[in-house]
Amino acid sequence: HFRCRSAFKLLEIDDKFRLLQPGRSVVDCGAAPGAWSQVAVQRVNSAGTVDGFSCVVDPALPRGSVVGVDLLNIPPLDGARFLSSHDVTDPATQAKLLELLPGGRAHVILSDMAPNASGFREMDHERLVAMCLSLTDLAEGILLPGGSLVCKYWDGILARRLQEELSGVFGSVLTLKPNASRRESAERYLLARMYRTTSP
Ligand code: SAM
Repeated sequence: HFRCRSAFKLLEIDDKFRLLQPGRSVVDCGAAPGAWSQVAVQRVNSAGTVDGFSCVVDPALPRGSVVGVDLLNIPPLDGARFLSSHDVTDPATQAKLLELLPGGRAHVILSDMAPNASGFREMDHERLVAMCLSLTDLAEGILLPGGSLVCKYWDGILARRLQEELSGVFGSVLTLKPNASRRESAERYLLARMYRTTSP
């Protein structure tokens, strides 16, 4: 019932690290077709139903919120709000996110974004790292102190620099390779936790 197999990577990460708890607010970058958002809606209880699909309501569970962004169209999903045809790296998108998030703040930023692969491994790596680095600007605008970021990257020479950049603003940064990610692919995820706001 997931829109895409990528859901299993996020489920695996979240089973281990429990980022998506009921009541939390989540921004899903590169959300189309919406599988990660489906996982997030279930786990933060943003649809207000126990499993995100059935009509079983547990009024004791706090309701979270999920906002997804993608350059492409993201088909509607109960419990999520989507900014289709939006570029995450565009400052105007950040302004819209501020309006859609409760209090203008998120507990978790997810990014499974990827540029269209050119086939030149080094170039694709550099482009994706640049996109990941732009997420630190987004974090500065919307991420709550203590918040988390999960972002996909393709391994390569700039991986260490990316990790160091994130370590400058997060208390803990881990590299993850979920079992659901094909072994031979260069795909990795960074899990950055305990966000420290840079503003005084
Ligand atoms: N996590 C999604 C899911 O589970 O359904 C799959 C995401 S797919 C691997 C990567 C997405 O990143 C694509 O839909 C692409 O359009 C989007 N993307 C790439 N660059 C982007 C950007 N600058 N802003 C927003 N979305 C972007």
